[in-house]
Amino acid sequence: MLCNNAAAQKKHRESLSPDDKVRILMNDAAAHKKQRESLSPEQQSQIKSINTAAHKKQYELLPPEKKARLMETKTEQRHEHLTEEEKKITAQIRSVAATLYEKVDLDKPTVEFLREHFYKDPTLALAYYYCCSTDPRMAIFNDELQPEVDGSVTWNRISNLIGSPIGQEEAMLCQETFNNLDQSHARIAACASCCECLLSADGKQGIVEMKIGDLPSEFLLTDSQKERLTTLPQYIVENHIQVVNHNGTYYHLNPDLVFDVNQIVLCRVCAENPMTKDQESIAAGNDYG
Ligand SMILES: [Zn+2]
Repeated sequence: MLCNNAAAQKKHRESLSPDDKVRILMNDAAAHKKQRESLSPEQQSQIKSINTAAHKKQYELLPPEKKARLMETKTEQRHEHLTEEEKKITAQIRSVAATLYEKVDLDKPTVEFLREHFYKDPTLALAYYYCCSTDPRMAIFNDELQPEVDGSVTWNRISNLIGSPIGQEEAMLCQETFNNLDQSHARIAACASCCECLLSADGKQGIVEMKIGDLPSEFLLTDSQKERLTTLPQYIVENHIQVVNHNGTYYHLNPDLVFDVNQIVLCRVCAENPMTKDQESIAAGNDYG
């Protein structure tokens, strides 16, 4: 009987004109929308989470090529949300990355560009790691080991950079700092914005605690940042994006470091403004994974 019904319905659908089909589809969509709106917020969120789980399961079953294509589309969609300035920087990053492999000498503007954007592109990250994470004067080449080369030049260069070995002065300083530390109250914490390790021994301002509502406005996500979050699956946002959603307001904070919204631990600089120049805060675009 069901089978007959389905067959009859199919036949009926096929007999409709394209205009009728569109009208029926629109009516259906409007009815669905109305039905969705009549649900309680709990019911809506329940349906949403069932949908997310079903989508996740469905996604995992896809062949690798389909997954890759889907990812590409998502990246394109995210790109559409970028501001003009962000698009310009993305294009600049691509062009720097394309020629970086062939460079033998990095000029100052390139080093500065790498310093600012190295975490946005793997090629930039590699170049920054190998070229900028050590002092180039520390390099030792095989040529310097040749017998005819005066080794003392290399030795002096390296030993001048290293400085004198740790001695009595450093040991005394260490002892003094340790004695000054009130061991009964000493506290170690981490800034929920720049993830820097904080010590209560660094004075009164070493560890700042703030209520979430008192945070400077720079902690809030901009409209375009919030919109970009909606293009990502919910489970990605929950597991991988460093954002805290408090009563529907989104903050640039590391959720793993927020234990109490009335006592958010911050360093002195982030507490004042996480967008302070050179501050490696989440608000400034740093991602601590
Ligand atoms: Zn901080």
